[in-house]
Amino acid sequence: MSFKDFIGNREAVDSLRQMLARDRLPSALLFAGPEGVGKLTFAKMLAHALHCEREKNDFCGECRACRKTSEMLSLTAEDLERRRAAKDSARRAENLVYFDVQLVEPLGQFILTSQIEKAVSEAYAKPFEFSRRVFILNDAHRIHWAGVDRLLKVLEEPPATTLFILVCPNASALRATIRSRCTRVIFRALEEREIQDFLKRETELKPTERRLAARLLGGSLGKARAFDLEDYRRRRESWLAFFEFCLSSRDWNSLFRTTEVLAKDRENFEANLSIAYSLLRDLLILRTRGEEGEISNLDLAARLRRWAERVNLAWISQVSQGLDRAHREQIRNMNQQLGFDALAAEVASTPSRG
Ligand SMILES: [Zn+2]
Repeated sequence: MSFKDFIGNREAVDSLRQMLARDRLPSALLFAGPEGVGKLTFAKMLAHALHCEREKNDFCGECRACRKTSEMLSLTAEDLERRRAAKDSARRAENLVYFDVQLVEPLGQFILTSQIEKAVSEAYAKPFEFSRRVFILNDAHRIHWAGVDRLLKVLEEPPATTLFILVCPNASALRATIRSRCTRVIFRALEEREIQDFLKRETELKPTERRLAARLLGGSLGKARAFDLEDYRRRRESWLAFFEFCLSSRDWNSLFRTTEVLAKDRENFEANLSIAYSLLRDLLILRTRGEEGEISNLDLAARLRRWAERVNLAWISQVSQGLDRAHREQIRNMNQQLGFDALAAEVASTPSRG
């Protein structure tokens, strides 16, 4: 492993490697950017590079320091998992032991104040094995507010022997005083070309399928690693049947079968809804701008274009609001199938032109 194995975000990678080369890493870094683009992966790579015995602004993955760093990271990940699984949540942060390279993550809803306190007190002590400690605070926007106060103190007078890397999807979710004490590194969604290249290397998908998948994945390599195009298409089929009914209101039996499938798959409810939203967004694009190249469901362009000609903006908005409602009801554990049936009936009985 080395930095060349990291996919995408060349700008962020290069700027950090320059800091490493010049021994100019600040005491606190903030990695901000969407989910699934490699922020945490890169933070871990950086921890290796900081200590690697062979490389200056890279890491070999093989030297004693690299192996030690990997070991510390996997031990801390195991420790976090064990603590999260503990039944008594009040005791999850008991007897914390921190390594020189330490991953800190929420143990429940929050990164607890005691987790931050431990990091702060360790930050001022001499490192055990390396010249500099690395604390990776993952999901830093979930640090409990009292912990944020403690962290702020140490970031105001940072010890030279500790590097804090705060990782979070949205920098504005952090308190401004924290943000201003960190050097911010922006990670962006990957380009479709980068996702397509990845899929070409890692999957058996055909070029048109890779193009479709890259569009659907929205620049997330994390999603690309777990993506199953067949599964996506199968689930999308239910929504297509649902929309078909909304447009024609012909076959009630088929609607009931469809909504039963949609309602039953509770585990994937959010992911399923996002498929419906992507279809609606495509209809909106085709209805307003007519740009086929911009839609997500590229393989359905012709069908969606025909539909787009049959609906008006009010129709799209009505369905979209109905799905928002379904989402809220899902949280309250309501009967989802009935909700979908009612939505379809309501939409189907409203004129879609005008
Ligand atoms: Zn090394």
